[in-house]
Amino acid sequence: MVKETALYDLLGVNASASEGELKKAYRKMALKYHPDKNPDDPEKFKHISQAYEILSDSQKRAIYDEGGMDALQGGGGGGEGFHDPMDIFSMFFGGGRGGGSRRQRTVRPTVHQMRVSLEQLYKGCTRKLKISRTCLCKACEGRGGAAGAEKKCDECDGHGVVIRMQRIGPGMVTQMQSRCGACNGEGTVIPAKDKCRSCNAKKKVQEEQIIEVKIEPGMHDGEKIVFEGKGNEELGLPAGDVIIVLDEQKHNTFARQGANLIMEDKLDLAEALCGFTRVINTLNDKTIFYTSLPGEVIDHGDVKVIQGQGMPHHRNPSDKGDLIIQFRVNFPSFLDDKSRRVLAELLPGRTTVMVDDDIETFELDKVGPSNHSRSRGQGGHGHGHGFEENGVRCQQQ
Ligand SMILES: [Zn+2]
Ligand SMILES: [Zn+2]
Repeated sequence: MVKETALYDLLGVNASASEGELKKAYRKMALKYHPDKNPDDPEKFKHISQAYEILSDSQKRAIYDEGGMDALQGGGGGGEGFHDPMDIFSMFFGGGRGGGSRRQRTVRPTVHQMRVSLEQLYKGCTRKLKISRTCLCKACEGRGGAAGAEKKCDECDGHGVVIRMQRIGPGMVTQMQSRCGACNGEGTVIPAKDKCRSCNAKKKVQEEQIIEVKIEPGMHDGEKIVFEGKGNEELGLPAGDVIIVLDEQKHNTFARQGANLIMEDKLDLAEALCGFTRVINTLNDKTIFYTSLPGEVIDHGDVKVIQGQGMPHHRNPSDKGDLIIQFRVNFPSFLDDKSRRVLAELLPGRTTVMVDDDIETFELDKVGPSNHSRSRGQGGHGHGHGFEENGVRCQQQ
């Protein structure tokens, strides 16, 4: 049991989340609440980043699970700060060429998430995506006016910020530092007569472009496709990158596990006992066929595999994973007298017990929630309730 779950809640996962689930959750949340997309609530982005920073470090996660936030802040670390959320974001999504010297100023990459179906990841495809970016105005080359026209801003004396006194109550005044409106925080202005007409001295313009995203067979959820220099421009720096992150959508039939595909097959009891045949459509628009062996009985929970019918491997798409089939057997909920008699004769293993008249008889009740905690206790495998559906999680929406 963990002491508190606030950090897990921030990422929208439960406390048993695997490393992969944490990564996926951070990816989704960080993109959703990135200040570029969500300028009103920068705190949320920061908190998500801090939650991920702790939980992705197995040592810190263990301390947090054991003692909560207090334990992390108290023990040893002593005021150890968090990284800049933007640094965490950049480390996670990569981009910024050259690697090496991190202090070198670069234009932040623009990250977009793209939904892809399992079929598209199986077959590969090319998708066109329209994206908008901030470019330097071509007419003035990002200067906002004629060369040398820039003057120091009188309003802020070139500091880019102004100090204002603000009343916060009767007789109480506080100093507020805010960005200079006259120069937009830049400290310089361009006189009206010298302003670039193309961008109205804004130096930058929005430009739309279409990029072609090539999805190769076998690519996986979270895979990044980088378009170098297709992102935002800033004066004096190489243009930023555009990073497309693939977001694999749930499939109705198949769940993916690495290169393997997992599907559930529901059998009626008669099929489980007497045999069945199945025709299914693959992700590749093919139809395949499988059948039980003569005389074979399939148990509820049995797992079978069809070799080579899974997902292609990305680097070697002719090599494929396997298709794993998990069987579920639907038992009838009630049998009438006649069926019972016939089946009892046909099926092996039925026994009859002779009972004395004075023996105490009990009824079998359904198990309720109160039975769970009492009978399962704290031992064994912790909080698992014994009736948990084992295996595939593929059908849950
Ligand atoms: Zn211009
Ligand atoms: Zn100014």
